[in-house]
Amino acid sequence: MNKIAVRVPFVDLNLQHQPIQNQLKQAISGVLNRGDFILGKAVADFETAFAIASGAEYGVGVASGTDAIALGLQACNIGVGDEVILPANTFVATLIGVLRVGAKPILVDCDPQTALIDLAAAAKVVTAQTKAIIPVHLYGQMVSPKQLLDFAATHKLLIFEDAAQAHLAEREGYRAGSVGIAAAFSFYPSKNLGAFGDGGMLITKNPEIAQKMVRLRNYGAAQKYVHVEPGTNSRLDTLQAAVLLAKLPHLQQWNGDRNSIAQQYDTELAPLAAAGIIPIQNHSSAGHVYHLYVIKIDDTCSVERQQIQDKLTAAGIQTGIHYPIPCHLQPAFTYLGYQQGDFPQSEKLAKQILSLPMYPGLSSSQIKEVVAEITSIMSGEQQQLLSV
Ligand SMILES: *Cc1c(COP(=O)(O)O)cnc(C)c1O
Repeated sequence: MNKIAVRVPFVDLNLQHQPIQNQLKQAISGVLNRGDFILGKAVADFETAFAIASGAEYGVGVASGTDAIALGLQACNIGVGDEVILPANTFVATLIGVLRVGAKPILVDCDPQTALIDLAAAAKVVTAQTKAIIPVHLYGQMVSPKQLLDFAATHKLLIFEDAAQAHLAEREGYRAGSVGIAAAFSFYPSKNLGAFGDGGMLITKNPEIAQKMVRLRNYGAAQKYVHVEPGTNSRLDTLQAAVLLAKLPHLQQWNGDRNSIAQQYDTELAPLAAAGIIPIQNHSSAGHVYHLYVIKIDDTCSVERQQIQDKLTAAGIQTGIHYPIPCHLQPAFTYLGYQQGDFPQSEKLAKQILSLPMYPGLSSSQIKEVVAEITSIMSGEQQQLLSV
């Protein structure tokens, strides 16, 4: 098979790491010199710095974003007998977190324009057992904090944010992670703030939740060898924390770059709207941190998504689909009893969305190349239609 030369990769972490290579190496050798590999100084420093930057008070570093959700829900005393509302169109980890604590997940559909949870739909599934809602700040855009707070107050629910795609995102004066009782972040390498491996964090303003989380990630120990609850081993690695601490000062700039890239995409893609290429809507302007830049290939488009993606791949432009199968249709979760047709907007989006290359360092000319290629795919199709 011929290997296609990649002109525009989907992500390129090197562009992020090369310019700060020395800082990263220093951070790693700092850990080496101190030898504090488990729950070392860098973990505590990063926890404080990230929590404060996100508008919370306490940060508790864990092994992954998934653990931040599962242990975080547990720390908030959400579990067996509780119902938790979450969107059907999220990464499965949100759902897995709910299932891990033994709570009952109640999925709801999304707004087709923003792909964010539909709070009107959520209002219809609240019962006496509902304990919390998990808004997922999908693609880097926050679910409206005002609407969320109203919703939670009306129905007397906790808000537990899945902010795994929204580090330092802002909307209506709130930062991602500062709206609810607690919030989970992931530091998976390609997230807006990524480690050199897995990592996650729970942030909160509530000292009891923070303390419980500190125990849960460390075998339930209140102090060494005194275990007050059945916890687990899920600590943020000191090496990863050191890397994250070195990268944190650059995050705002990187997010700004992502937002500018998105603006250029928006502008250059605008002429294709009539042809059915519609970017997911941004209601938070500069506060959207664009973990992903996602377009919809809608019903009116004359070319299938698969065809567009294949042609882009052939032209050396990598794309992704986030996510191709909504949670309720995943084979692992059929036992929950959901069916095709339950969440029409999520199902439709799953068929129509395409994530374009998005990362700090993506150049203006590369963006032009991507849009030019999509334009040419669309006009090629137009000509074919005319010639039949
Ligand atoms: C990445 C992600 C997670 C899971 O984080 P991991 O660190 O990969 O476990 C959870 N929720 C969302 C929305 C994510 O994007």
